[in-house]
Amino acid sequence: MIFNIITLFPEMFNGPFSESIIKRAQEKGLVEIKFHRLRDYATDKHKTVDDTPYGGGKGMVFKVDVVDRAILNLKSKISKAKNCRTILLSPQGQKFNQDKARELTKYDNIILVCGRYEGFDERVRDLVDQEISIGDFVLTGGEIPAMAIVDAVSRLVPAVLAEKSAENESFMSKDEKGNYLLEYPQYTRPIEYKGEKVPEVLMSGNHAKIEKWRQEQMKMKRD
Ligand code: SAM
Repeated sequence: MIFNIITLFPEMFNGPFSESIIKRAQEKGLVEIKFHRLRDYATDKHKTVDDTPYGGGKGMVFKVDVVDRAILNLKSKISKAKNCRTILLSPQGQKFNQDKARELTKYDNIILVCGRYEGFDERVRDLVDQEISIGDFVLTGGEIPAMAIVDAVSRLVPAVLAEKSAENESFMSKDEKGNYLLEYPQYTRPIEYKGEKVPEVLMSGNHAKIEKWRQEQMKMKRD
């Protein structure tokens, strides 16, 4: 899977993608993360990507022509352009969750467009397939949402995680009402810490009992 991130600040991504699981996923060629500077698609000598909003008001908005050129240029280079999803990061978008992460694993290429300042010219919305928010709060830019999406989707790409390790994770399964289940409680040594003991069943060696306890705990956590 290839993620293409359109941003003013590609350097922001250096840390999160150069450690641990996402780093290894890139090294193994399971995931590729490419950065594209929005400013490279500006055509004037000052490399202008934003302008003041019509009607007045504070702040600047990204120009539709610059964003359009960036998306079109990327799509022209993607060999399986049909299997590409273009996503605008926006607090006004559909809320991101595990189902949305899973849906995105269907695509070979994902283009993530990160905003800044006051956001985008409204016509940018016509250039993308989908608008995603990572929650009901406003961040300074789309880079942190893009990092969250790349991380959550990459974990679901086959072979990125060890086999079966995601199976019981939070949000990976649902109850009969369609509510997400959360992962069961986990413990490691010591057996007792500040008076709190590891549940006996986990040390019983009885796998059927342990599984039953875990399933019950997953339901209880949800309630
Ligand atoms: N003026 C915009 C509004 O009120 O809807 C907010 C602009 S915000 C300061 C700048 C950029 O950060 C947005 O264009 C978007 O790309 C990104 N952003 C901020 N909060 C976000 C969120 N909750 N989810 C996804 N992207 C977000």
